[in-house]
Amino acid sequence: MNIIDELLRAEGEITFAVLPTPSYLREGVLELAREKVRHYKPKIEAEFGISLGNVEVKDQKHWLVDSVSYSANQAILEHAERMGEIPTEAHRKFYWRNAEAARLIGGIPFFLYANYISGAFARAANGSIYMPFGYMSRMTDHGFNERMKYMGRIIMHEIGHCVWDKLKLRKIDKELFGDRVWKEGFCTYVADVRFANLYPEEFEGFEMHGVYKRGLKLVEGVVEKHGIGALRELPRRWKEFDKEFRN
Ligand SMILES: [Zn+2]
Repeated sequence: MNIIDELLRAEGEITFAVLPTPSYLREGVLELAREKVRHYKPKIEAEFGISLGNVEVKDQKHWLVDSVSYSANQAILEHAERMGEIPTEAHRKFYWRNAEAARLIGGIPFFLYANYISGAFARAANGSIYMPFGYMSRMTDHGFNERMKYMGRIIMHEIGHCVWDKLKLRKIDKELFGDRVWKEGFCTYVADVRFANLYPEEFEGFEMHGVYKRGLKLVEGVVEKHGIGALRELPRRWKEFDKEFRN
């Protein structure tokens, strides 16, 4: 019996979608996701000629603490770059105090978001991939049938986000919404077009919509006009392409 069958059988015994996901099921989802990362990361690194380092797969509950420390480290690095000097102990303390404050202020909203609002299959941030297991994820994907079935596409899409973050100009994202359609289009293109041959069985019954579909159309337009090499340029040059393709 393979891991998916095993998990689906175990899940079938649990009838209440509103309960949080039991830990043995979480582990199974995380393990399958890690297996996909091991498999796909080298392929995408070769495609883009970059190294992504260690891409960890974690439970989304670690996201807030990871994010504030990641941002603090990035802010320290940016500070050093801007000032052309090694940050002093006082600078480091300043950024870490901000991070600690963000964690404290963000704790309750994050808990509510992660448990009740967020219904995503997965998300990439801080160079890692997070799997949400909140009530909403469970209610919208009871049994994890969808998430387990489409794990290849999901993970490839999320590794696409890691590539975008690695290649983009600014390390700290100041563009909260402006680049979303390009970012999601880029990841959807990577997972659903460029590497689609790796998991042909995962295209049945799972269609991208909304910002993913709109973004995909834009990216397809860029590749069609400027060639596949433009795909590597997208994270740095999306503003140029935006002017060219969205008018
Ligand atoms: Zn995405």
